[in-house]
Amino acid sequence: MASVAIQTIRKAYGNLEVIHGVSTDIDDGEFVVLVGPSGCGKSTLLRMIAGLEEISGGTISIGDRVVNDVPPKQRNIAMVFQNYALYPHMTVAQNMGFSLKLGGVEKTEIKRKVEEAAAILTLENLLDRYPAQLSGGQRQRVAMGRAIVRNPEVFLFDEPLSNLDAKLRVHMRAEIKELHQRLKTTTVYVTHDQVEAMTMADRIVVMRDGVIEQVGTPLELYDRPRNSFVAGFIGSPAMNFLPGTVADGRFTGPAGIAADAGRIRDGEVLCGVRPTRLRVVEGGAMAEVKVIEPTGEETQVIARLGTDDLTVLSNQRLALRPGDRIGVAIAPDSAHYFDPASGQRL
Ligand code: ADP
Repeated sequence: MASVAIQTIRKAYGNLEVIHGVSTDIDDGEFVVLVGPSGCGKSTLLRMIAGLEEISGGTISIGDRVVNDVPPKQRNIAMVFQNYALYPHMTVAQNMGFSLKLGGVEKTEIKRKVEEAAAILTLENLLDRYPAQLSGGQRQRVAMGRAIVRNPEVFLFDEPLSNLDAKLRVHMRAEIKELHQRLKTTTVYVTHDQVEAMTMADRIVVMRDGVIEQVGTPLELYDRPRNSFVAGFIGSPAMNFLPGTVADGRFTGPAGIAADAGRIRDGEVLCGVRPTRLRVVEGGAMAEVKVIEPTGEETQVIARLGTDDLTVLSNQRLALRPGDRIGVAIAPDSAHYFDPASGQRL
């Protein structure tokens, strides 16, 4: 196992710089998720760690070794791709053992390692099958098996669950997390799905447009987002943002909705409130129900407050219909405040 240090890394394709000098450290044994919208540079960063993309500036170290000029095969990493990249004409066992065979490892040793990995991934009964005879989840497990047999210092995952249906994705998410708890191999995992990031990561690196916006544990990002981008990106359904004014420690927003603003300076602000922290109450700011979505345990209401749409997630069964007028209030200690111009947390 090894730590990974990323120092002021830049990447340019021709004249176009897509990663603008990012730095972060991944501890030995840690599970770190790189997350951000499509095109923010997370795959490029992962591929630079893997050695599949040249580094335009800065250094990447794995353990004590700067690997900028070390070829992928000698970096002691193993990568699992979205499309699995299995060889169709090889059995599961052959797929899993292929890199060892290429590396000149003895046949009996390959067999032992493949069987060991197959046991970890409960693939023992599938070793003689071909990829076409496997389900999506099984193929994904073979791809992980192929990484495990190499006993790498670092696992790199590039959106490994994107091709699976929603139910299997949730299942495989737990499997990968459990695997990490067992093997404790340093892992860097790329996804655009913030729920995947929240549920799997020890720490999350949120990226946007080639820079890192924030690094933290899932709950640090959820409870104290550094800016309105992270606040809106982390959490589902997404945070509501209400424009308004703070005066004397009190926020007032659309339709007179109000909240305590404590030590926030007077002036214009953007007030962020999570859907679960809005209450439907008598005497609240008046809003008009647009859409109501009961899911059994919870009711999601989209309502218009002034000129803004709000999402309210209630754990009550609300008997509401589109067009109804409701009162909405912000629960105590639930408002996040951001500078409306820069988006920075106040
Ligand atoms: P993500 O994984 O976050 O979706 P990528 O790392 O794939 O983002 O891409 C980051 C940016 O780099 C994007 O703007 C993308 O268009 C650009 N890019 C990626 N690969 C190349 C390439 N081979 N040539 C030019 N631009 C590229």
